[in-house]
Order: sequence, then C-alpha cells, then structure tokens
Amino acid sequence: MPPADDVTLSARPPDPNSVRPRATTVGGWGGGGAVSALVLRPGDSDGVLAALEPYRRPAPGDPSTRGVIPRGMGRSYGDAAQLAGGVVLDMTRCTDARLNHDQGTVTAQAGVTIGELLRRLVPAGWMLPVVPGTQHVTVGGAIASDIHGKNHRTAGTFGIHVRALGLLTSGGETLELTPESTAGLFAATVGGMGLTGVILWAEIGLARVSSPLVSVDTDRAASLDDVLALLAGPGGPHRVAWLDLQGGGRAGRGIVTRAEHVQGPDGAEHADRTHGRKDPATVRAQATVPEGWPSGVLRASTVSVFNELRFRRAPRHERGRVEGFGAHMFPLDALDAWPRLYGKAGLLQYQFVVPDGHEYVLHTVIERLRRRRVPCFLATLKDLGTANRAPLSFPLAGWALALDLPRAARGIDGLLDGFDRLVAEAGGRVYLTKDARLRPDALEAMYPRLTEWRATRDGADPDGLWRSDLAVRTGLISVDHR
Ligand SMILES: Cc1cc2nc3c(=O)[nH]c(=O)nc-3n(C[C@H](O)[C@H](O)[C@H](O)COP(=O)(O)OP(=O)(O)OC[C@H]3O[C@@H](n4cnc5c(N)ncnc54)[C@H](O)[C@@H]3O)c2cc1C
Repeated sequence: MPPADDVTLSARPPDPNSVRPRATTVGGWGGGGAVSALVLRPGDSDGVLAALEPYRRPAPGDPSTRGVIPRGMGRSYGDAAQLAGGVVLDMTRCTDARLNHDQGTVTAQAGVTIGELLRRLVPAGWMLPVVPGTQHVTVGGAIASDIHGKNHRTAGTFGIHVRALGLLTSGGETLELTPESTAGLFAATVGGMGLTGVILWAEIGLARVSSPLVSVDTDRAASLDDVLALLAGPGGPHRVAWLDLQGGGRAGRGIVTRAEHVQGPDGAEHADRTHGRKDPATVRAQATVPEGWPSGVLRASTVSVFNELRFRRAPRHERGRVEGFGAHMFPLDALDAWPRLYGKAGLLQYQFVVPDGHEYVLHTVIERLRRRRVPCFLATLKDLGTANRAPLSFPLAGWALALDLPRAARGIDGLLDGFDRLVAEAGGRVYLTKDARLRPDALEAMYPRLTEWRATRDGADPDGLWRSDLAVRTGLISVDHR
C-alpha cells in the first residue's frame, strides 16, 4: 500500500496461527457445494507473497498443481471463491485501512469489509459510494465481482470508484494498476473473479455524508408493470423492489423503496435519534440460524403466508421515513447464516440483467416459475445504469432480477437452462458471483468480450496459476495449462 498522510482506520490484531496452511472444506454462501482445499490465511498483505511462495511453482502431486484462488468473506453464492483439491488464499486478515481527508479517499487492504469501513468512515463524514446488499463483503471481493448497489443508475459499480489497486501476479510481482496507466489489466481485474491475481489493496474515492441516515419513500405496487414504473420514476437514488412471487394470481406485485441520504442540518438533527442503534451505518445480527437446520421447514405455503403479511404490512404510499443506512441497505444481515434455512442442499441465486426494452423476459421468467411450481422465496428487482469498461462486469442499462430458489426444487436445472437462453437472446447476462450452474455455451453467449478478457488474463498469468471451480466449470479459463 503506498504511504499516505492520513488516519489509520482499522487493523485486526495479528494472528500467528493464521499463516499455517489448513486442509478444510470451503463453499459458497448458497451452501450445498463445499469442497476440500488447502486454505492459506496470511496475517497481512506483506505476508501474502511469502504464504504463496511454496505453491507458485509446485512439485507434481502438490495440491497447488490444481491452482490457487483468492477468497474474501465467501459471500459469493456459488463456486467462485473455491477450488476443489487446490489452494484457497483467504485474505480476511489483511484489514488495514487509511482515510485521506484531503483527497476524499480510503486506501484499504483487500480483506477489510464494507461494514468495517462504514463503521469508521461514516462518523468521519465519508461514505463508500457503492455498497451491496450485505456489509460482509471484502474490498477484494467487491472489486473482483465489480459489485453494484441499489444506486447503480447514478453511482455505477464499485470498480468505477477504484483509483488504483495493488495486484500480486503469478510471477510474484506486485503491480500498481490504475484505470489510466494500465487500463487493460485494471479492467480485466475489475470483475475478473480473482483470476488475474491477488488484489492486495485499493484506493477508493469516497462520497461526503453528514449522517448515517436515509430518507425512504415506499410504495406498494399491485403488478410487475407498476413496480417497473415506480423504479423508473422520480425519487432517491437507492432503489429496489421486493417482489412477491408466491402470491398466487398476484405474482409480481411488490414493494418499491427509493432512498436518499439525509444530509445537512436535518442529518445532524436526526443523528441524535437513531432509533437507539449505536451504529446506524451498519447492522448487527439479531439471531443466527443454527447448523443442521432441517430441510423442508421453509415451504412454499409458509412463504406465501409470510409474503402476504409482508405485503399488507408495508405502507401503501409513504414519504420520508428516516432509517439507519445499515438497516435499510443490509436487512438480511440481521439474521446470520440465513441460507441454512434452505436445509442441506442450500439455495441457488439466479440473478440476471436484461437491457431496457426487454421487460418481457421478466414477465416470462415469473410466469414460467409459477407454471412449473418452482418456489421462489426471495425476489428483488433493481434498475441498472450504463455498463462500465470492464469486460466481465455484470451491470448493463436495464433490469436486474435476483431469485432465491431452493437448490433441491424439482425441475430447476432445465428451467434455469431455459432462462439462460431467454436472457442471452435478449442481450442480457447472468451474474457470475451468484452463479453455481451456468454452462460454457451460455457464458459465451452472455459475455461478448470474453476473448478480450482471456487474452489479457493469459498474458498476466501465462502458467495458469489462478483458477476457481467457477472458472473451470464455465470455461472462463482454459484448463490446459496445469
Ligand atoms: C446477502 C447478499 C447480498 C448481496 N448483494 C449484492 C448486491 O447488492 N450487489 C452485488 O453486486 N453483489 C451482491 N452480493 C454478492 C457479493 O457482493 C459478491 O459475491 C462479493 O464478491 C462477495 O465478496 P467476498 O469478500 O465475500 O468475496 P468471495 O465471495 O470470497 O469471493 C468472490 C470473488 O472475489 C474474488 N476475490 C476475493 N478476494 C479477492 C482478492 N483479494 N483478490 C482477487 N480476487 C479476490 C474471489 O476469487 C471470487 O472470485 C450479495 C451477496 C450476499 C450474500
């Protein structure tokens, strides 16, 4: 990390045991697909190269002949941050961060989480311009997936706000990449799913805020068309719709929220009454779903009742309700380990985007889910803005629908393969960081700049050190190297 005349924000105490390689199982957030791997957990960014050294040029038969993949908090839903029989580089102890007030930037090691940063930045008057739907995501994971928030139309992706990053290459070199001086490798790393090297640190541009609060407008919408109209209408920049897809004849109705930061004197006033929460920029888990939660408790019938209640309890039309930023942005974080509700087989999150003008895809997907009786326990819809320059970045101007589906649902594989064709034909794509099942032909159809990305990646990793189960399964990388 380059020196900066700034304030140190966070550092976890060193853990001498963390560097020892550990054979263990690792999986994605959706559950159900964990694999055995050798996990390295360096104590800080400086220790990453040393930890990796024995595995960079392995002897035949070493686990590392299968390759290495960096990992953050493991909040990607599928197999992006795992490698069966290979080496997983856990970056979560690399957590130093420094705020530069004059430049309005934070320079953070890759393993610090969005939540840890918010906890320190917001009281100092600064905010990360883009946050996802959970605070438990690392800076490295946010860049490697080029994540987007509810404000994508106005703020773009996380990667757009990265001014520079440190990348450890397979050759053992640490490069400082910027969007100007090393545009090709920078863009291949943003959204590059950890396959160009290890992101060690990043300098991120911040937004000014004067409170940890948001003002929220809420509307109930009776149909999908009403939801789309509200999401496209006036209001705050943080927009999202919760859709009820279990509601019988009314599938597609929803609750739309549009939120904006409470700024200025109002912010200061409200900050005094933050609903009793000590730290409204983040959220604290109220409960944890225990391990071994039985399959079958979460049922379509139960979820229908829950959805009915949720819909009815939401205000029909409410303006200016003040909430903590964390409670509004990260509601799922209030229940720790919630994917366990889906039982042993876990859940698949199917998130896709289709361009503006292809709303029929949303209608068709919802209708087919209903006809095939595949239960969808959580569905959210966002409007996205212009795509950025990174070849593998997910967002494009249009509509992004995320569906949480039980992995064990009957007929789900064929149904989702059909959705893939529909999405690709419409010029859309599936989000790789959520994926656990996409086939190589679908990937090729959805990401038209794959060849360009592969050429840059292969140049940066000629021996094919970086590899994940996602990359092998979807054919993102060629597997001839090792
Ligand atoms: C409840 C929930 C809500 C979510 N909401 C959103 C949302 O609104 N918008 C959105 O875009 N995403 C969202 N996500 C997805 C999440 O933001 C991404 O999957 C993110 O990449 C996870 O970060 P992580 O630190 O857990 O990374 P991991 O899951 O550990 O890894 C994800 C990818 O990043 C790579 N990676 C991790 N660290 C590094 C590093 N240091 N160097 C190089 N590569 C690295 C890994 O190899 C892997 O390919 C959500 C996830 C959950 C669970």
